[in-house]
Amino acid sequence: MAAYSSFSAAENFAVLPQLETYKVPESWRQPVAPLKIAGNTWQIGTEGITSLLLKGSEGSILIDGGMEQTAEHLLENMRRLGVAPSDLKLILHSQAHADHVGSLAELKRATGAQVVTNAESAVLMARGGANDIHFADELLYPPIKADRILHDGEQVVLGDLRLRVHFIPGHTPGSMAWTWEDAVDGKATGIAYVDSLTAPGYQLINNPRYPNILQDFRKSFERVRNLPCDLLITPHAGASGWVFKGNIERDSVIDCKEYADKAEQDLKLVQLE
Ligand SMILES: [Zn+2]
Repeated sequence: MAAYSSFSAAENFAVLPQLETYKVPESWRQPVAPLKIAGNTWQIGTEGITSLLLKGSEGSILIDGGMEQTAEHLLENMRRLGVAPSDLKLILHSQAHADHVGSLAELKRATGAQVVTNAESAVLMARGGANDIHFADELLYPPIKADRILHDGEQVVLGDLRLRVHFIPGHTPGSMAWTWEDAVDGKATGIAYVDSLTAPGYQLINNPRYPNILQDFRKSFERVRNLPCDLLITPHAGASGWVFKGNIERDSVIDCKEYADKAEQDLKLVQLE
């Protein structure tokens, strides 16, 4: 009787695959100095990716942290604006993809700030972007634990800062818009920070992981059109006409209606493909 032997050394196994890093345009990785958007509202991220710092009477709020490698730059820009790590009290965000929340675990650790989100985003952040509906495990980042879960329309208040969340599912099931009031040139201005409305490579018809994705997009377009929106800002700066380079220019910035109209048009083209 033949003895069971170890597996033959001659047996050939395929070489394991090379892991690909998440490659992004250079503008997403190009840090910028703090840019003043409104009285208390600053862009502190990179040329292509928005990270907003709101300075208030009882501490600051950060909305979006950009990619994982952006954490130290954001802390440095906060310091430049006189905001110590312990002054950052709350971290909000637009969506739970790696290019907008990649740095949040590190920022939370460095500052002690509380992460405020919604349930759909919280589950994706808890697993560090893994098992994404459209991207599977392509866009991973250090997992983030949420401290507070919001319902649609809830307000987040910190001293004199008061923001409202609006759920606009589509780009991700947990996508959000934030609205608040600030002063631009001494005038009260309704600011809307609105998540991406794009569907890059998404299966929009009969998607078993997200059967109602088109209905969600349509409702979200309508919602975005009706936001209080004197000034629109988006997580990808260029999507709303911002150029975060040198001086702030508002001339080319589009409004919420135009943003939603354009997104709806693009989505129709995707469906036709
Ligand atoms: Zn995204």
